Amino acid sequence: MRRNLQAMGWMTVSVAAFFLGRTVQPLAPAVGQPLTLPVQPLNPAVGQPLNPALQPLTPAGQALTPAGQVGANFYMQTAAEYRACCLQTYRLATEKLDAARKADDGSGKPMAIVMDLDETVVDNGAFQSYLLANGKGYAQADWDRYEQFRPQDVAWVPGAKAFIAAAEAKGFTMIYLSNRQEKFIDGTVAALKHLGMAEAGLKERLFLSTTTSNKEPRRMAIREKYQVKMLFGDNLRDFSEDYRANVAMPRSVDDNRKVMQARKAQVDADATHLGVDWWILPNPAYGEWEKLGTPNVLPLLHPATKLSMP
Ligand SMILES: [Mg+2]
Repeated sequence: MRRNLQAMGWMTVSVAAFFLGRTVQPLAPAVGQPLTLPVQPLNPAVGQPLNPALQPLTPAGQALTPAGQVGANFYMQTAAEYRACCLQTYRLATEKLDAARKADDGSGKPMAIVMDLDETVVDNGAFQSYLLANGKGYAQADWDRYEQFRPQDVAWVPGAKAFIAAAEAKGFTMIYLSNRQEKFIDGTVAALKHLGMAEAGLKERLFLSTTTSNKEPRRMAIREKYQVKMLFGDNLRDFSEDYRANVAMPRSVDDNRKVMQARKAQVDADATHLGVDWWILPNPAYGEWEKLGTPNVLPLLHPATKLSMP
């Protein structure tokens, strides 16, 4: 798989050279002792895995090669096209706020908008850069420390700040339904305060993860108290647990193909939600889709065109 993605090699080399050319700074917490995460240099050889000891991105493995990770993060962090996608989503959603406001169900419950945080509202590019700079795949221990100790490193996803301000001005309660961890809630509150988010009742509006990544029970709890008018996410599981890529391990390419097709069919079935009450942000760096890349990505791609050689 990696050999066949050598077209990405130029990007690997240029970005690896960029990172190798500077001193890698370990993450330092705002308070307490400095982090001492091992620094692993990138291997700049074209077409070679950057680091043979890369940890799998998820327990199921990672779909993106290190070069693919570089490309995905290069896109998210630098491409004006990524920014335009986000602004497009948030601008159109802003236009729908008045209609959502009028659609009162008569229950007397306050109206709410439910948003995922990471890569929907909160840009964690600094954490992604840390992984790339250190030749690492995702590791929960690193993310835990980032969540707790680096709230000052987050940024806004383009358009989210203005959308939230517009929705709050129209009287919506903003609820944040995230798989950041409840035990680290202080770090997440600090991150949102760093972004300048309204602090009133913020902890009560945060629905974080305790034991499961399944957001459905928390969505149900939110709907008990609020009329939910819109959902925002970068992962379809931010909208419905129907999108869980629930394939037993070890899985085959055929298993993955069936789940891939089922997830797409589900999107078609849910199409009337899109751009109405469901709003999705692009995230090519990680997500539910990625689980289907193990054991092999290439058989899931379109058949290659047949070019006759000159
Ligand atoms: Mg997210």
